[in-house]
Amino acid sequence: MQHYRRHLFVKESPIEGKGLYCASEVKEDKIIMKIEGEIISGEECERRENEENNVYIFWNGDEYVDVKHTEDIKYINHNCDPNCYVDADKKGNLLLVAARDIKSGEELTIDYGYDEIYDICSCDICSTEEEDGEVGKEEKPLNENKKKETGI
Ligand SMILES: [Zn+2]
Repeated sequence: MQHYRRHLFVKESPIEGKGLYCASEVKEDKIIMKIEGEIISGEECERRENEENNVYIFWNGDEYVDVKHTEDIKYINHNCDPNCYVDADKKGNLLLVAARDIKSGEELTIDYGYDEIYDICSCDICSTEEEDGEVGKEEKPLNENKKKETGI
């Protein structure tokens, strides 16, 4: 499989701080970039998350990859309806993939997938939820992976 990198750029984002943008059109399921980082152990991952507040650690299904010092990808913002997702190829390389057709100049987003982000997220979905439900806001449909099946 050939990886080629799209032309990406970083600029101020309406979501938060700076964001990652793509300067060309990308079709659904096409690779945008390979995400490189430092391979660390699960223990070290936990330590960095807790002690260093590092939220730039991905899991490729096998290893933890800290992308804190990788340019570009750390600027990608969260959205509950993202236009990108992170996938791993057979070698365990992390790839940023288009979840749908992306227009030239569009900001790239992924679902960070950790609980705290939904509390501070202000995407369309989350701000609608806030207006609707003052009482029960604990339903977070995106966290289905947290529900582990028990017993067999
Ligand atoms: Zn949201």
